[in-house]
Formats: sequence, structure tokens, C-alpha cells
Amino acid sequence: MTANADDARRERLARFRPASGMETPRFSGLASFMRLPVLAPEAAPGAVEIGLIGIPFDGTTTNRPGARLGPRAVREASTGTRALNHATGIAPYALAACADLGDVPVNPVDAAETDRRIEAFYRPLAEAGLVPLSVGGDHFVSFPILRALGAGRPLGLIHIDAHSDTDDSQYGGSRLTHGTPFRRAVEAGVLDPRRCVQIGIRGSMDAADERDWAKDRGIRIVEMEEVCARGLPEVAAEARAVVGDAPAYLSFDIDALDPAFAPGTGTPEIGGFTTREALHLLRALRGLDLVGADLVEVAPPLDAGGVTALAGAGLLFEILCLLAERVAARAAA
Ligand code: MN
Ligand code: MN
Repeated sequence: MTANADDARRERLARFRPASGMETPRFSGLASFMRLPVLAPEAAPGAVEIGLIGIPFDGTTTNRPGARLGPRAVREASTGTRALNHATGIAPYALAACADLGDVPVNPVDAAETDRRIEAFYRPLAEAGLVPLSVGGDHFVSFPILRALGAGRPLGLIHIDAHSDTDDSQYGGSRLTHGTPFRRAVEAGVLDPRRCVQIGIRGSMDAADERDWAKDRGIRIVEMEEVCARGLPEVAAEARAVVGDAPAYLSFDIDALDPAFAPGTGTPEIGGFTTREALHLLRALRGLDLVGADLVEVAPPLDAGGVTALAGAGLLFEILCLLAERVAARAAA
């Protein structure tokens, strides 16, 4: 990097970082993700490297709705997160210029229209090389994001969830639901199934088709029983090997957590991760070439005392650390 480019980057890092709780109290002001500056998405390319984005849409939820209110609750809860990761030493805002790019303008009563609007929102960001970190919304939102980020070269995937979300269709032929995004993304050619790994899958199923389809395509499914038998470090090591060095996406469904830690979600499954296990799993995924990530399915109306939004905000910070480390590595390359 030239001296001038270096100065410009330093300036951006100084500008696009959270408001410190030592300067203004954390409970004051308008709530943005991580207390970051709010920036219009069209102003983001060239200014910031990571954009935090809300997608307040839950119109393809099959059971209990409420995730449309997830971005607002996670913004609020995320005002408590600080600037330094005590465990990994990562200081994400020293590594990447970050801003809250607001919410995608969804249509709450039209999934197909929302699908188009999400892709249109992300496409210019992806073309500019900006790394999006999104908060849903139900899990359907990952599909249009992946179409924008995976255009031209299929991505690998780390998918942490109780559910495989590789159903074909639900409720008499609906193909866009929160139970189908990863099947659609493989069909669209934006995910390479042999570089996809799903971790924490569990619970009763309607039929085996979903799992069989995924396995037949080469998706590696690590069910929760296997996680328990082998332990997190070994599972994380295998996940990194499956995804490899090429560009990849990370998708975290909050229902991967046990309902004791995340009751506020539409399709809870018992026997899930503790929040501590989830942190350890994410920290073991450092070094992947992540081009984006999302955290989905936080449903505040079903929450108890904000515990799910709090878990979501903490995991969001952990994921942001992974992304920031990659942005810095790319900037230095
Ligand atoms: Mn899901
Ligand atoms: Mn799920």
C-alpha cells in the first residue's frame, strides 16, 4: 500500500468506528449496530469495508413469526458490546472501517419482491468488495444475499443451525421459505455443496428427504450428536478443511443455541449449543476467507427478558471479529 492509501485507510478507521461508552453513555443516543456511525448504503463503497445491515423480514417463517423485529432488538442489545475481544485479542474496529448501513427496504407481505430487493441491495456492495454482516429476519434472507455475493464464483459455507434448511418446498409448493435457502443457493450455483458444512443439526424432521438431498450433493452435515462425541475443536478443524482457502460465507441461525439460551426464536429445538460453546466454535473458525456473514431468526416477541437478542449481539461481535481479521489480511496483501 502507498503512503497516501495508508493515510486514507487510517482516516477511515478513525471515522468509522463505534462511539465509545467512555465518551457518551452506552444507553444514550439512537441505537445503531455496535454504536457505529449510520451510513447510506450508496455511500458505503470506498468508505467502509464492513457494513452491518438489518433485514426485518419474517414473511417466510413456517411456524412462529417475530424475526422481523430482530434487527431492531439486536441493534439495541449490541450497544453494550465494546471494542476489544478479550479472548482472541482482535480489535475489529482497528482492522476494518465499519458502519451500520440501515435496513433493506423489504416488502412485509411479498416474499418474491423482498427476494429481489435484497439481492438488489447487496449487489453493488458485493461488486465493491464490501463485506456485509447481516441481521435477519428469517433464514430465507440468506438466499438473495448469497446470489449477490456468490455471483461468478460459488462460495463455501459454514452454516450453524438446528436445521439443515435444504427442504425443496413447503406448504404446497412454496419454494422460498426459511426452510429452503441453502437448497435454492446450491441450485442457483452460488454455493459449492462440497465446500459446505452444517453444524449443530438436530431435532425431529418431517421426512429424511431434506438431509438425504444435502448429503447426496456432498454437503457435510455434523449433527449435534457428532459434535458432542468428537468435541468442538475437532469439528471446527474439519469444518475449516471442508471449506478450504477459497471465499466462503458464514450463516448463524440463533436456534443453533439451546432454547435455554435463545428462547426468542420461531423454531426452537432442545439439545442445542450453550452460548459459551457457540463462542468457542466461532473462535475456532479464524482464518477462513469470509466474504460475508449473517445472524438470523432472533424473534423478540418470543424472547424472555431480551436474552436471545443479547446472545445474538454477542455472537454478532464474535463474527465481526472474524470478518475484520480477514479484511485486514486482504488490505495487507
Ligand atoms: Mn435456519
Ligand atoms: Mn433453524
